Amino acid sequence: MLEIRDIAVHYGRHQALDKVALDVAKGEIVVILGANGAGKSTLLKTVAGLQAAVHGSTVTLDDHRLDGLPPHKVVEAGLALVPEGRGVFGELTVAENLAMGAYAQRARGDEARRLAQVLALFPKLAERRGQMVRTMSGGEQQMVAIGRALMSAPDILMLDEPSLGLSPLVCGELFDALEKVRDTGVGILLVEQNARRSLEMADRGYLLENGRIVGQGTAAALRDDENVRRAYLGAA
Ligand code: ATP
Repeated sequence: MLEIRDIAVHYGRHQALDKVALDVAKGEIVVILGANGAGKSTLLKTVAGLQAAVHGSTVTLDDHRLDGLPPHKVVEAGLALVPEGRGVFGELTVAENLAMGAYAQRARGDEARRLAQVLALFPKLAERRGQMVRTMSGGEQQMVAIGRALMSAPDILMLDEPSLGLSPLVCGELFDALEKVRDTGVGILLVEQNARRSLEMADRGYLLENGRIVGQGTAAALRDDENVRRAYLGAA
């Protein structure tokens, strides 16, 4: 179980996050909804060790404290981030990108089995193992990014707007894959602008506004919530 408590982040005078608390259990999908600038990316980056938080912020994974650790130690502890914009290596092949994900100690010795799982999850990548990633479509590159994160054998997978810029069809394929990942027991923390589709898939969700959690509930409850419908689902 991932437990985030009292996360506060300042950019100079601007407070991007204020006392944010949330939980993600293994085998569930949790979505964070929020407008542009609400602090969603900052939250994922902070949990991943890429952004410093104010003293007193804590991130715990199975009783193991992660706050203050450098990013590679966070990965080593079982938490992987698929960043906004994917962060794939365009000049390397699909196979090379996936291999980069398996450098973590926790993943060593099990690379072949994990690679087989990733290629089963994304059959398109299996056909294109030797292809240079920069020549691939946005959806395929997102599959590479998710596959690379999965190669590190995460207990919790965090994704920052994976559907950005993708067609509904490709977005559907990606979300179907995330449901399969969840069913293997991995916990997923997802930041998404596609509120409708992500609430269909998620188990629970949180609403982030101006750096604060202003609502939370099961995905079904959020789908029925009047404010959520108006602000995120485009209901009249
Ligand atoms: P978006 O969906 O637009 O990416 P977001 O919810 O992910 O938005 P963040 O990127 O976390 O929001 O940004 C939260 C706030 O912090 C915004 O007001 C943003 O301008 C500010 N911010 C983000 N990164 C920095 C930075 N490196 N320096 C200064 N301010 C920043």
